[in-house]
Amino acid sequence: MVTMNDGHKPIGVLAIQGDFAMHAKMLERMSAPYTLVKHASELADVGGLIMPGGESTTMLKFFSNEGMGDAIKEFVTAGKPVFGTCAGAILLAKEVLNPSQERLGLLDITIERNAYGRQVDSSVRLGECPELSPRPLEMVFIRAPIIRRVGEGVRVLGRCAGLPVLVEQHNILAATFHPELTEDETVHRYFRKKLSQ
Ligand code: GLN
Repeated sequence: MVTMNDGHKPIGVLAIQGDFAMHAKMLERMSAPYTLVKHASELADVGGLIMPGGESTTMLKFFSNEGMGDAIKEFVTAGKPVFGTCAGAILLAKEVLNPSQERLGLLDITIERNAYGRQVDSSVRLGECPELSPRPLEMVFIRAPIIRRVGEGVRVLGRCAGLPVLVEQHNILAATFHPELTEDETVHRYFRKKLSQ
């Protein structure tokens, strides 16, 4: 669904695998114009892109089809805002551990997949994003990665249990948790603002 109620292009939600429908639901609740992106050519019609959580290895397979990976690289290199959650953050990273795998290499972080161990498949914790919200945010982690290194140009916007969980490098925003799975619109609102900057 596309509803254009402001001067901007809609937010694209990458819809090849994973929990894209929950991001769409969140944007709908915020009355933010959005559209699902399934083909590389559709990137021309969106003002920003959300890369959802899911399985990064599965998404990588789709990236070589139709040149989706290259198209996203071009999109982000052109300065368009992108927001990766969990698997999306893994795909954006410069370095991936456990094990190493293909990635877009756009965000200067080292990220370790499935880093909380098999026992902790998923958890809900409270974390802090002081620049975004004065109160703690509920954060849902599902087979989540851990950001092990943050490059010089990367700002840590959110932490949970001392670890960076929300980071930003210019037009790139990445979270190791799933803000789309809570009622809290804080992180999506922050991303939406990046489209008009
Ligand atoms: N474990 C997944 C991966 O490595 C990420 C999990 C998620 O997106 N919730 O791609």
